[in-house]
Amino acid sequence: MTIMIRAGGGPDELLHKVEALSGQSLFGCYQCGTCAAGCPFYEAMDLLPDALIRHLTLGLPGVLERRTIWICVGCESCVERCPRAIDVARVMEALRQIRLQEGGDQLAVAQLQDEALRELPPIAIVASLRRHTG
Ligand code: SF4
Ligand code: SF4
Repeated sequence: MTIMIRAGGGPDELLHKVEALSGQSLFGCYQCGTCAAGCPFYEAMDLLPDALIRHLTLGLPGVLERRTIWICVGCESCVERCPRAIDVARVMEALRQIRLQEGGDQLAVAQLQDEALRELPPIAIVASLRRHTG
């Protein structure tokens, strides 16, 4: 596995951005896995929270493309449990912000299926659009 470390513009820039936006120091994570073990949505994630932090600190590519950052609902179960007081929910929120800034909106009304528009409560649609658009 190749680890890419570059000054400016590289994967390490993502780590710096996430740390600046979230206010968290990710090298404080010692990979105990407690956050992942207590996450109610871990089964739907394609990268568990502890692994996501590891990917960021190693500068591994693809973190912004992971489904995990959208699956996280910010419930803060992980925040309560982390022995290193790392606010993983804020890390996820920072990643979503960066993704929206760099990749544009992730959802448009026109993309919603008729069935979803008919059956979902309007508040769920509005909340989803708020979350997936910049
Ligand atoms: S619970 Fe905290 S220290 Fe443990 S893996 Fe998660 S973020 Fe890292
Ligand atoms: S805040 Fe996100 S990562 Fe943490 S436990 Fe809740 S859903 Fe999982």
